[in-house]
Amino acid sequence: MIFIADILFPVSSHPLRNGFLECAGDGTVIRFGSASDLSPRERESATVVEGFLVPGFTNAHCHIELSHMKGLFREATGMDGFIQQINALRLTVDREDRLSAMRKEFEGLADQGVRAMGDISNCSESFEMKAEAMLSGKMYTRTFLEVFGTEPEEADSVMQSVRQLQAEARRMGLDAAPTPHSCYTMSPLLNRLSAAAGLESGYISYHSQESQEEEDMLRYGTGPLAEDYRSRGTTQLPVTGTGALVYFIENLRKAVPFPVEGNVLLVHNTATDQESIDAAKAAFRHPYWAVCPLSNIFIHRMLPPLELMRRNGLDICIGTDSLSSNHLLSMVAEMLCIQENFPEIPFEEMLRWATLNGARAIGCDGFCGTLEPGKRPGVVHIGNVDVSNVRLTEKSFSKRLI
Ligand SMILES: [Zn+2]
Repeated sequence: MIFIADILFPVSSHPLRNGFLECAGDGTVIRFGSASDLSPRERESATVVEGFLVPGFTNAHCHIELSHMKGLFREATGMDGFIQQINALRLTVDREDRLSAMRKEFEGLADQGVRAMGDISNCSESFEMKAEAMLSGKMYTRTFLEVFGTEPEEADSVMQSVRQLQAEARRMGLDAAPTPHSCYTMSPLLNRLSAAAGLESGYISYHSQESQEEEDMLRYGTGPLAEDYRSRGTTQLPVTGTGALVYFIENLRKAVPFPVEGNVLLVHNTATDQESIDAAKAAFRHPYWAVCPLSNIFIHRMLPPLELMRRNGLDICIGTDSLSSNHLLSMVAEMLCIQENFPEIPFEEMLRWATLNGARAIGCDGFCGTLEPGKRPGVVHIGNVDVSNVRLTEKSFSKRLI
């Protein structure tokens, strides 16, 4: 089948105005080019779409199993308030309703063009759905089995249970491995054990520098997160005098050889700075930097320092995060948020973050992320766009065609 669009974005090469894309019945890309090179017969048989044609998205950060929490959370509570709400609300919905909310959101992501996803799981509820979607070619998922726990003596038992969860996921055909949640929910011991276990698979995902509260906790031992530890009587984290990402790196150094070979997907980076970026570049051979702008606004009324991140040439990815910190799961809405707040960033660059960079971060760029021949990347139409200025509009939507 052949599609023609106002602008075709292969991502692997320059965009083409009045471009065409030809795919086989199973969605494998055969070729693309300028529509003027098509024969009259080919042009007649083509499906013409107004707007942009792009490869399937990679949602680099989601917690699909939290989908039942849509609309339950108060906004702008900061990290401390957010954690209190998660703990209070997580199990207030029964299993059947949790599963149906999760399936609905997952289908919604696939329909809007998400072809691959880095998804956080704390339990097995999403495994069956994700395994089905992998088999059918609808959506590839890399599952990060996230752990937390503040008491060092619990670390071994937490690791044992996550290893069981990993065995269950793998039996179902999922790519899944343990991953640490963050610096502020874990003992240093569990933090490094789970990171090392994840890196055995070649991939970890880590909530990093999401808020200033996290930075203050590690650097000075102050702020709401530090207070929360004290009020709960949990084992205190060390006060390092450094930022939270440097703490993570130095802690990890005790568990794995450096520089770290695997892909390290750092998620949020809202409070990152030059010192942290330099440390990550020295420590990790393949760091990726996911941003979840709508989630950051929801919880913190903040955005990541994208100018700084671009200046450093970082591999940026885009995630929707979960419905506990977002009103909707939409890659186009995340990109529109970036466009509105950072109008100097070209659409083409942002699209690379939303497709190829995410696919590289979770290791599926062999078949996703660009419209290169031989890949089966999913084909997505973005409509209601500003074609002449190559920008999204408030009415832009995305729809999966293949
Ligand atoms: Zn998250």
